[in-house]
Amino acid sequence: EGPLFILGVFFVLGIVALTVVAVLQNKPLPENLKYGIVLDAGSSHTSVYIYRWPAEKENDTGVVQQVEECKVEGNGISSYHEKPVEAGLSLQACMNKARDIIPVSKHKETPVYLGATAGMRLLRLTNSRVADEVLASVENTLRSSPFDFQGARIITGQEEGAYGWITINYLLGNFIHSSPWFNIMPNSKEGTSGALDLGGASTQITFVSDENIESQDNSLRFRLYGKSYNVYTHSFLCYGKDQALRLQLANTMTGQNITLLDPCFNSGYMRNVSTADLYSSPCVSGLRILTAPQTIQIQGTGNYQLCKNKVQTIFNVSHCSYSRCSFNGIFQPGLQGEFGAFSAFYFVMDFLKLTKEKVSLDSVKDTVERHCSKPWAEVKRESGRIKEKYLSEYCFSGVYILSLLDLYGFNSSSWEDITFLGKIHGSDAGWTLGYMLNLTNMIPAELPPSPPLSHG
Ligand code: AMP
Repeated sequence: EGPLFILGVFFVLGIVALTVVAVLQNKPLPENLKYGIVLDAGSSHTSVYIYRWPAEKENDTGVVQQVEECKVEGNGISSYHEKPVEAGLSLQACMNKARDIIPVSKHKETPVYLGATAGMRLLRLTNSRVADEVLASVENTLRSSPFDFQGARIITGQEEGAYGWITINYLLGNFIHSSPWFNIMPNSKEGTSGALDLGGASTQITFVSDENIESQDNSLRFRLYGKSYNVYTHSFLCYGKDQALRLQLANTMTGQNITLLDPCFNSGYMRNVSTADLYSSPCVSGLRILTAPQTIQIQGTGNYQLCKNKVQTIFNVSHCSYSRCSFNGIFQPGLQGEFGAFSAFYFVMDFLKLTKEKVSLDSVKDTVERHCSKPWAEVKRESGRIKEKYLSEYCFSGVYILSLLDLYGFNSSSWEDITFLGKIHGSDAGWTLGYMLNLTNMIPAELPPSPPLSHG
């Protein structure tokens, strides 16, 4: 009986041990997460984006997620041209937040990139030494963070267009349709989406084109996940919405008048503008009227049609040395495919409540026209919490967006191809994600030779 009993005990213990092992094996291992930080140093503000992804899925598409956007207090880094040292200090609060969010054990391996866009391109044109000082200042702050600082630089307009296009197509899952491993994806629609990005100082248009791209500067060739893409891109410096507003004001300045009646602002709205400040931008310095008064007062008259006429004066459509141009003599092939419109395109359309479902071009025009004709007091009453600067400019911005998209070639029918996008699956549409994916080599040129295990 004794040996049988002992055997029985061992049997039961064996079963228990096997169960424990099985349970342990089935329990998912803690995920190995990686982090990355990109600072978008835009013309009007800086945002710190924190991204996270599972280490073992690095080369899959759609696995990187935005976990935080920290908006830096104050204006963009180019606004620190008179006190460059403070540009770096302004980033400190958001970098501290990144320290709290990212686990300490990951700090050393987390890359940090800063990309500055058109605000800094303009400052470099005005004074390249000061632009370097501002960059040195932000670099100083980022070097003293616990993360792996990889560089702070002014990105080109081409890069801004290209990375914005990569971001939205990565997030929309458009790079994987041609892959044999992913052809079971639901709602998989062939092709990529063009990208329309509107900043404060520049605007970008980027899309795949089957046509010959007649100017080399506008041509990008990519190989991503085993597929080649022939992409058209252009960045219009000075045609972001803040610089476009300056151009529009400078075009109607006279030598004498202190008041400027402006149809692009709601009636009853008034704003004082210093002419020294207006002309400080290289976008308008050539339009300076020497006899202009020091300060002018803008008085809104709120008229859509007159505003449209005025906005049109900032585009040159009279010369084109290619088979076709958008404006200012810039080559553009015919529009192709769907488009995602983001940043200020989205902010303005969202304010006008035009992003939720597809709205026809005619009703968008009606909405902008109605908004422009509202008295300023009513606009303010209806939308109390929005910054006055933004609120006062939605009439101008709406008209500007319609004029710009018209010159790109959007008509009543192709308007339906545009989706106004803020976030895609929780990540902001913009150039930052694409920039990080590229610099961390997370987008393979070729497909893996066999299906990745995680999808098997
Ligand atoms: P940037 O700073 O160059 O990226 O440009 C962003 C643009 O979007 C600037 O023209 C800002 O004034 C504008 N912007 C940001 N937030 C809003 C908002 N809520 N409503 C309207 N415009 C906005």
